[in-house]
Amino acid sequence: MMTPSSPTNDYSTRQRQRQDLPYRDDPNAPPRLESYTFGGLGPLHALPEKSKQLSLPKRLWNAASTCCQPHLNNNDNTSYYYTDTFNDLPWTCSIGTSDEHGIWLNRYDPAGTIMALIVWILMGYSSLTMTWLAATGGIPVSLALLYTVLTALALACHVKTSLTDPGAVPPSAVPTAAQRHQADLKLSMCSQCQTFKPPHSHHCRICNRCISRMDHHCPWMNNCIGAGNLKHFVLFLVYTWICSVTSLLTFGWNYFFCAEEACVFTVVLTQLVRVMTLLSIGAFLFTSSMIMNVLYGILTGIGTIDRLKKKATNTMDTAVEDSIPLAHIFGQDPWYWWWLPTDPQFPDYDRVMGFSTPQRLLREQMLWQQSEDSPSHGMSV
Ligand SMILES: [Zn+2]
Ligand SMILES: [Zn+2]
Repeated sequence: MMTPSSPTNDYSTRQRQRQDLPYRDDPNAPPRLESYTFGGLGPLHALPEKSKQLSLPKRLWNAASTCCQPHLNNNDNTSYYYTDTFNDLPWTCSIGTSDEHGIWLNRYDPAGTIMALIVWILMGYSSLTMTWLAATGGIPVSLALLYTVLTALALACHVKTSLTDPGAVPPSAVPTAAQRHQADLKLSMCSQCQTFKPPHSHHCRICNRCISRMDHHCPWMNNCIGAGNLKHFVLFLVYTWICSVTSLLTFGWNYFFCAEEACVFTVVLTQLVRVMTLLSIGAFLFTSSMIMNVLYGILTGIGTIDRLKKKATNTMDTAVEDSIPLAHIFGQDPWYWWWLPTDPQFPDYDRVMGFSTPQRLLREQMLWQQSEDSPSHGMSV
């Protein structure tokens, strides 16, 4: 039995504690109660096997439509899913980062808005240059096509990172049952939000919210990077990294190895390629360092802000965090879904976000009772 004064460092013990489903350690709770989410917008119940059967067009449609209609709801009992309606607040087509806004987007940071636009301008510029090179015969058409597809994927991930709620903690947030029963866990409040502050969350002054598992606020994305949008951010980094490597290899090969006449660019194109080479080198260095940064955070469970705090207080050696399971970043989809900027379906929304809400606890209780009464509906128990 653990006491608050003797936090365990035993990995398997801590792992076992975390593997316990929420509410399972509550003696009055039903034996298996899990929450599933779809779209990172609230908990949704789903039978994992059936949620995986959704077709690609359906998944893409859901990913696109939840950007603008996060409160589409289907609460009939025959559905595999239900959505949390943000504590039953009516949804409005408004933009912002507070609880009443329907579409998540940071509006109050001009620097972030400009920097996010610069990303689009630079990516568009590089894609146009590659297309022009292909049109003049300087590079193969297939290479330009590949580059354009990669750029489009990177920009789609950029949009999803910017418009996805990174894991804002609502005013009604409460600790999960597992957290309440964890003796060595100190629960805290945010003095600015006046609400429960989940472990590993931080208050972002730009978003003006507490963000679950916040890594950092990225001005290039004009958004925080947290539990809700880490997948999109990782994909953006990977696609941009591949783009920069592709262009650098292409230009390097052209410069050093291609002696044909077609490889000689026009004067204008030569200048464009020179600028793009510099941009690609910068993008390569920046995304490489960010990918290593994010990988370190995933493998150690210590995000950028936590790492800086621990280094400042010299407490890195005493860190007891576990690595973040990939299912808590990419959802429970099979690996080939991970490469598309679709919203992840988390295996357990509350555990990923680090908090629950009274409404969610109540609804899960009701769903469980429904599934007890009617075994053909709801969750498998
Ligand atoms: Zn806060
Ligand atoms: Zn932020």
